[in-house]
Amino acid sequence: MAFKPPKPSIHGETPDSLGLKLAEAGHPKYRAGQIFEWIYPRRAESAEIMTNLPANLRVWLAENYDFTSTEVLGHKTSQDVTQKLLQRLRDGSLIETVIIRAPMEGVGQDKSRRTICISTQVGCAYGCKFCASGLDGWKRDLSIGEIVSQLVQVCRIEDQADPARAAEGLASFDNIVVMGMGEPLANYDNLMSALKIVNAQWGFGFGARRVTISTSGVVPKILKLAEETLGFRLAISLHGATNEVREKIMPINKKYPLEELIPAAKTFAREHGRMLTLEFILIEEINDSLEQAQKLAVIARELHAHVNLIPYNTVEGLDWRRPSITRQDRFVKELRALGVTATLRREKGHDINAACGQLRLQKEKSLGADSTPVAEV
Ligand code: SF4
Repeated sequence: MAFKPPKPSIHGETPDSLGLKLAEAGHPKYRAGQIFEWIYPRRAESAEIMTNLPANLRVWLAENYDFTSTEVLGHKTSQDVTQKLLQRLRDGSLIETVIIRAPMEGVGQDKSRRTICISTQVGCAYGCKFCASGLDGWKRDLSIGEIVSQLVQVCRIEDQADPARAAEGLASFDNIVVMGMGEPLANYDNLMSALKIVNAQWGFGFGARRVTISTSGVVPKILKLAEETLGFRLAISLHGATNEVREKIMPINKKYPLEELIPAAKTFAREHGRMLTLEFILIEEINDSLEQAQKLAVIARELHAHVNLIPYNTVEGLDWRRPSITRQDRFVKELRALGVTATLRREKGHDINAACGQLRLQKEKSLGADSTPVAEV
């Protein structure tokens, strides 16, 4: 289902594509460069403020482009300093963008690592059992401009919160993870175009190796990603070390079982060096046995992958449970004893994974798509 907005987003353009459109409309092509200096370094919210452009060009830009294809309705900060931004699109759809702060040992909160988690679709068709994003199914793909606009909005909020860091823009963040609402590789072309804008010097100039794309395991698109020249990182939501267990959690495993997923991941790792992470949500008595840990260790060693363990977070309507701390520790110890590097995330993991999409669902169910902020913190 394609949504055609009243005006295209300015954040979906490149200097070349905008230059062509300018020329068609009778404006000099070189103006594109000036316009881009306003769009990314200064996060312009309208053409009116572009004072070095002629008035007729500013009018043309305002008539032909949307500068805020996503609008922040509100933000919510959790105890572990995860900040969720609810953003509304022009058709009223809601998506989430999350800022995660991970304090580093021995340094204060202001030196914490900061990651932005972005969405790529409205809803999701993949139906992973632990995830709220897919509960209402897939509605549509985000456009290039909507994907990029989420990051522009994060920068605008940061500019207000900390004017001293405003000049840094996106550079003040350490990583971007494409792990919000939607299966990123199901919106492959728009995602790649958006990430090229994020990476380009005329865009955000954000390094490809600081961007991680997280997939539920869309094998043909993993192989396509392996051929890209920009070396984005890849995270695979594994959550089961055998087909039998994985199928209970990830319906996609029926289409792309482990015999296909693991060779595809291996191809990606071979082409792009050691840039693979396996995400594994620990669910009591479902996938947290020692046998699963041992089978997971075999896969992780084969792929030279890092394992991220995330204790399950309750989803309404499912009676799965989070394992006890003892069971979580037993699992991670077994992996490490078998030579795997593994991290056990006690809190932030479920904020960005199991709970993804929950703020949007809460908002849609209680209020509909109006403009009332969810929470301002
Ligand atoms: S985890 Fe990702 S792919 Fe799976 S349902 Fe949620 S949004 Fe979709």
